Amino acid sequence: VAFEFFAVQEHVWCLRRASYLTCSYVVGTPKGYVFIDAGMGSDGADARAALDRLPPAPVRTVLLTHWHNDHSAGSLFLHEKYGAEIFCHEKEGAKLTREPPRNLGARLSRLVPESGPLVLLKGLLNDGPSVRLSAFRPVRDGELLLEQFVALHTPGHTGGHLAYFDRMNGVLFAGDALAVVGKRVRRMAKHVTEDHADALASMRRLANLGVDTLAPGHRYPLTGAREAMERFQHTLKDPWPLFG
Ligand SMILES: [Zn+2]
Repeated sequence: VAFEFFAVQEHVWCLRRASYLTCSYVVGTPKGYVFIDAGMGSDGADARAALDRLPPAPVRTVLLTHWHNDHSAGSLFLHEKYGAEIFCHEKEGAKLTREPPRNLGARLSRLVPESGPLVLLKGLLNDGPSVRLSAFRPVRDGELLLEQFVALHTPGHTGGHLAYFDRMNGVLFAGDALAVVGKRVRRMAKHVTEDHADALASMRRLANLGVDTLAPGHRYPLTGAREAMERFQHTLKDPWPLFG
């Protein structure tokens, strides 16, 4: 598997699986590394690829945006290997602490990326997490975490989706509440959005934050994002495009 790993800006790195267009992030803090999502390998392959390229430091915490496998699967490895505490919304945590579904649909669904035309298949398959966590730290909207990250409950893509605003570095980790395509901010595909009205409200909230760097869960992060976010705000009254 090919991983891309690069600095988004000082103290912030992006870990990317090119084949799935998925992005997780690592933030360097004075007390160690904080992961925002943990990659899609339940063996921790994504997280290991990142840590191999970084100077050694403790892994403090994993902040999960939502339960989907391509974001959460590596969290169990980071907990077991480094003792990292896993933070997420209660609704996502409830799913992640349950026995993963073993049926064929669920197994196939985990292989389908959330970006690109194949995403249409995803809605037809029974999805479910691929790891089972023993515990999580529930996060509420508006909470300040680790003195640095403001949790923003942004339901729509999933019911307990969280975005995290890193106020130290000015980065919004948007998870799958938003998408970035090229230099433009877009919606996620309609078929992978559970609740469209909630998702629109969440996108409005994020677009209003006025952030400099937007770090989404797929494709590439966008620096100098202010103008693109403003343009995006005006598109939120339009009908939902099929692919976002
Ligand atoms: Zn997702």
